[in-house]
Amino acid sequence: MTLRKPIIAANWKMNKGPAEASEFVAHFKLEAADLEKVEIVIAAPFIALSSITGKNFAVAAQNCSDKESGAYTGEISVSMLKEVGVEYVLTGHSERRSLYGETDLEVNAKNCQILDHGLKPIFCIGETLAEREAGNLKSVLKTQVTEGLKGICNEGVLNCVVAYEPVWAIGTGVTASPEQAQEAHAMVRGLIAELYTPEIADQIRIQYGGSMKPANADELLGLPDIDGGLVGGAALDPESFLSLVRSAVNSVS
Ligand code: PEP
Repeated sequence: MTLRKPIIAANWKMNKGPAEASEFVAHFKLEAADLEKVEIVIAAPFIALSSITGKNFAVAAQNCSDKESGAYTGEISVSMLKEVGVEYVLTGHSERRSLYGETDLEVNAKNCQILDHGLKPIFCIGETLAEREAGNLKSVLKTQVTEGLKGICNEGVLNCVVAYEPVWAIGTGVTASPEQAQEAHAMVRGLIAELYTPEIADQIRIQYGGSMKPANADELLGLPDIDGGLVGGAALDPESFLSLVRSAVNSVS
């Protein structure tokens, strides 16, 4: 089995402009030895991306256009993001799917655009409570994974991080139980093995997202198929985020 480096990503959503982003970065102190064990990512609002400086963090955008350039008022292209040092881009976040109507087709176009420019998608998937209760967990995940990764080759998929985020757990304070999280993560890994190869599935990092916080991080990050977290609320405060990073370090120590 491959030892996958945990990846902890903060999703600040529509919080923190340049001043607050700089303050957070200045306050966040980590040992060099820890940084070797865990990858830390901050997904900031577009105008705060340039404030996420320093060697501790990889910078992520929360969205991008699926087009190269041109008459798309208000959009930001992947090459513009690359120019300001962005390495990752979130795609398929449930808030973008539910509030802005993003489809699997658009998510796929964004994933392809990001990879074409040498950046890496943090590709979010996850079921609603109604879908889970109707027994549709696997079929929902299968559709999202299959459609979202359409046309992406073996080499490309190895540059993707998948974030399993049950929609009912995002921003609600409700967390998936360790059994529910592990089951879904193993399912996603299995789907990737079917679409690609078992070796590729073994290498891909799958983050958990949905009310991860210092109180539940050790347990979630200790599960065999969970390779990090995508964190909203608990990543707004540097001390709380630092505690999550430490849990990720402990999960591989
Ligand atoms: C998210 O927005 O991706 C998320 C997981 O949020 P929260 O941690 O607040 O549930």
